[in-house]
Amino acid sequence: MLKIKEIVKNFGGVRALRNVSFQVQKGEFVGLIGPNGSGKTTLFNVVSGAYKPTSGSVMFEGHEMTTLTPDKICHHGIARTFQIPRPIRGMSILDNVLLALVFGNAERPKRHAAEALAEEAARLIDFVGLKVDKAALPDKLTAVDLRKLELARALATKPMLLLADEILSGLNHDELGEASTALKKIREEMGITIVWVEHILSVLMSLVDRVIVFDYGELIADGTPQSISNDAHVLEAYLGEG
Ligand code: ADP
Ligand code: MG
Repeated sequence: MLKIKEIVKNFGGVRALRNVSFQVQKGEFVGLIGPNGSGKTTLFNVVSGAYKPTSGSVMFEGHEMTTLTPDKICHHGIARTFQIPRPIRGMSILDNVLLALVFGNAERPKRHAAEALAEEAARLIDFVGLKVDKAALPDKLTAVDLRKLELARALATKPMLLLADEILSGLNHDELGEASTALKKIREEMGITIVWVEHILSVLMSLVDRVIVFDYGELIADGTPQSISNDAHVLEAYLGEG
């Protein structure tokens, strides 16, 4: 489904991605880990079109993505969440999701479909386990609820591939369970392929099929959670972080 080939991304003298290649099959649940600054978010930014790579290509379902703008990439079926959620503050929780339903899909819905769309937005909010007043503004949402809203907005674009960036950071123990359950449901009930960047390895390792490890912008390991936990290079990358 996703073919990342020889991606290089330089920011001036900083080499954030150094010749990264890997593929993701349809239906896979892949964890992407690595120390801070190893290039994980940069890769998401390249795949989703926020950054153009210095060189290399991203193919999705047989189409070249690297020449497209982020909106077109989203319309092809790639959605992402952001490490720091930024809902539109002046719009209700429901409208935030509705906006993604209207503009995140290649086919712009017709005006008369407004009611059905609002119902669909409400269903997505329920699906991710966000139990709040949907008409309220998002400014009072807790950290875990902001992550769920982020997931609902991504789902509203009807992705085939979801790139989830650190949806667990800063959450307490119960919240970790809630947020990771939402991701598990997205995979199991919606059949969406997921690449998940996460720092909390215990939770990630228990859910994903496969783990890719970055270190200093390079892919240093790719395997099952079990093989990765026993990999000397991976341990070194983490221990070396101090
Ligand atoms: P990770 O998500 O793995 O923590 P990032 O992809 O955010 O790491 O960052 C990788 C490297 O690229 C870091 O050295 C970071 O400072 C640098 N970097 C990321 N984005 C930019 C940018 N927009 N401008 C300059 N440097 C950047
Ligand atoms: Mg990051």
